[in-house]
Amino acid sequence: MQQHAGSARDMGEAGHAPTAPGAGDPTHVTFPGGAVHGTSTVLAVVPVDGRTAVITGQTPFHPVDHTWPDHPADRGSITVAGRRHPVVDCLIGAVEAGGPGTGTLRAGSDIPVRRDAEGWRWLVLHMVEDFEPAAVGEPCELTVDAPHRHALSAGHTACHLASLALNEAVAGRWRKETAADVAGVPDFDGAALVTSRIHPYGSRDTYRLGKSLRRKGFTTEGLAEELPRIAEQVTARIEEWIARDVPVRIVAEGPGVTDRRWMCVGEGEGALRFACGGTHAASTGRLGAASVTFVLSEDGAQLVMETTVRQPDGAAPNS
Ligand SMILES: [Zn+2]
Repeated sequence: MQQHAGSARDMGEAGHAPTAPGAGDPTHVTFPGGAVHGTSTVLAVVPVDGRTAVITGQTPFHPVDHTWPDHPADRGSITVAGRRHPVVDCLIGAVEAGGPGTGTLRAGSDIPVRRDAEGWRWLVLHMVEDFEPAAVGEPCELTVDAPHRHALSAGHTACHLASLALNEAVAGRWRKETAADVAGVPDFDGAALVTSRIHPYGSRDTYRLGKSLRRKGFTTEGLAEELPRIAEQVTARIEEWIARDVPVRIVAEGPGVTDRRWMCVGEGEGALRFACGGTHAASTGRLGAASVTFVLSEDGAQLVMETTVRQPDGAAPNS
């Protein structure tokens, strides 16, 4: 297991050095640089729905996003004064500054605004079963379950590669011009995706093939018969990415948990740049053999793509 916190790679590629946030700042996050461990200070301990949210100045923990909850939270622990507390969930929290709800912490799905809303302070909530309120102001150590992080990162990277490959595999089905994906291919994924769920070493994407998609010019005729070929093509494309071992990095606009971030695949002018708040494998070669399957609903209105990758043999458990 290798620790990445504070390396030159973090600072250069994320565009900023992790720094201690001041009062009123958002939680600063170090996971975009690959960190799975860090130290900080406990800023607040707040009861939320029968559990306790621990807020720190900085954290390596990736919280589940309340707006697009595709990527599950990191697991791990927070240690204060020698006592280790398992982090059972990790959510985004928001406190409105200057509005009617000023000072009230809202957690996860209770947050009434999107993650880019102005006038809110955005926080990472480390959810624990019990905690000493007296720990406020104390130093703490934050440790992410690195194999679990890597498994989710591999699943998320595979998910993006699968969506690109699917766009290519169904490109011939567009009868009208439509928006293009980051590779310049007609963006079926962007036009039809309803939900995306990342899980360890895989993902499940659900697409709606309804009237509105057909009106945009996508033909679904003969799709059921073509699915075996599409699955083969998508799997082969992901295998190509894996064989080429292309570097993947995350570029962040700032250190705050809700600052915009991009997943960049490749380097230089040819790099593909996805708006993405998740964590990723450090390169496509960190994914093991891929397999992609499709299930089309009986009425033909819903298509589910399941993508799985194996952990490469003999690889380190985290990237
Ligand atoms: Zn993503």
